[in-house]
Amino acid sequence: MNKKYIYIGLFIVTIIGLSIVQYQYFRIGLNLAGVQFNEKMGAVLEDVKKDFVNKNELTFLIGSALKDEEADFNLSKDSVQEASVYFLDSYLKEKMLQNGIKTDYGFHLYSTDSINYLTSNTYHDDIDDIVKFPIQLEGYLPTLLEKQLILELQFKNVNKYFLSQLNGLTIPSIIFLIILIAVITWVFRAFYLQKNLITTTNEFINNLTHELKTPVFSIGVASKILEEKVNDDQKELVGMIRTQVDRLNGQIEKVLELEIIEGKKNFMDLKEIDLKPVIDSIVNNYKELSTIENFSFTGKISGNSFDVLGDVYHLENSIISLLENAKKYSEQDVWIQLEAFIENKFLVITVTDRGIGIGEEEKKKIFDKYYRVSQGDIHTVKGYGLGLHYVKRVVHLHRGSIKVTSNLGKGSIFRIKIPLLRND
Ligand code: ADP
Repeated sequence: MNKKYIYIGLFIVTIIGLSIVQYQYFRIGLNLAGVQFNEKMGAVLEDVKKDFVNKNELTFLIGSALKDEEADFNLSKDSVQEASVYFLDSYLKEKMLQNGIKTDYGFHLYSTDSINYLTSNTYHDDIDDIVKFPIQLEGYLPTLLEKQLILELQFKNVNKYFLSQLNGLTIPSIIFLIILIAVITWVFRAFYLQKNLITTTNEFINNLTHELKTPVFSIGVASKILEEKVNDDQKELVGMIRTQVDRLNGQIEKVLELEIIEGKKNFMDLKEIDLKPVIDSIVNNYKELSTIENFSFTGKISGNSFDVLGDVYHLENSIISLLENAKKYSEQDVWIQLEAFIENKFLVITVTDRGIGIGEEEKKKIFDKYYRVSQGDIHTVKGYGLGLHYVKRVVHLHRGSIKVTSNLGKGSIFRIKIPLLRND
């Protein structure tokens, strides 16, 4: 599966997991708030019960209101009732505040024979979501009225109140969760946009370099031929063309090599192709080159066609890289041979030289990225240690193999094997 979807999946699972954990904490918080509220209310009711046992200013006023008395007060019955409701409300509010409860409430004072005595304005009779705390009063008032009296405190929407108490926890955790989602989404987006941009740029560079490779190679060969034919005055100019073409060629090759080394798999355009004409053309070009540069080159091609599933540009480039190395790593009397033949359903291409050769230890490393035999640096031979790594990757992506046989001071044979489509 695409890594991108694995990361996105993990991210979604993490966010869902975190949300569930937060929700559980939130529920625990709500329960704890409920338990705490009940405890506080227990303390409030205990205090109220105690305060109502004896005759005091409040119980006396309430007692007067309940007994329909105007005694001691120069006021009407309604006014005494109103005053009682007001003072009882203030008293209860104060008691609750002392115990850390600050929310809307209502109260109702009634007798067990269902006579309503005092009711606060905020008392609701017919609402569902309501929590009631009744206490049976003892002492002064029940004795005065000779009845059992109940003082009931009620709270509506307590959950809302608990929620408001948890806001200090829930709001920050929701905000942090949103920030986390936003930041990770932004990072994902930025990363994949960047990746797409790189892929598009790489594809463009890839195509452009491919298109440049063949004409530049041909200009190079043509300018070498021209150099031999022009008179001395013109030689300098053609020489300039050659040097610049060589430089350009070098740059193109570096781009091609790097492209592969960066590990892009789909840079290869595998098609059913006949490699025979491609190898023939390389041989012809090298023959021309060998006469100009005065080295010995032989091409031995046997077979009518080499049908493979391959990418012409990269295969051509790989063969040229091997030939260039054979030339680069030979001192005097450069001798190079290119052979191509069919062996057991495989196309075999060998590049043999009689150059400086490669030591036993080095042979294992020369295909590694950036590896150069140290002796190679001491010589005037230029390179980045990418050529053989590139060739090896190209051959492997063609399901082929590459081997080297070499003797120090005697020369080397690089042997490429690529599976054929048909065994002609
Ligand atoms: P570069 O030529 O840029 O150094 P390569 O990957 O093409 O990088 O080669 C890696 C090393 O392998 C070279 O530095 C050289 O020492 C050695 N090498 C490659 N081809 C030959 C050869 N035909 N003969 C001797 N040594 C070679």
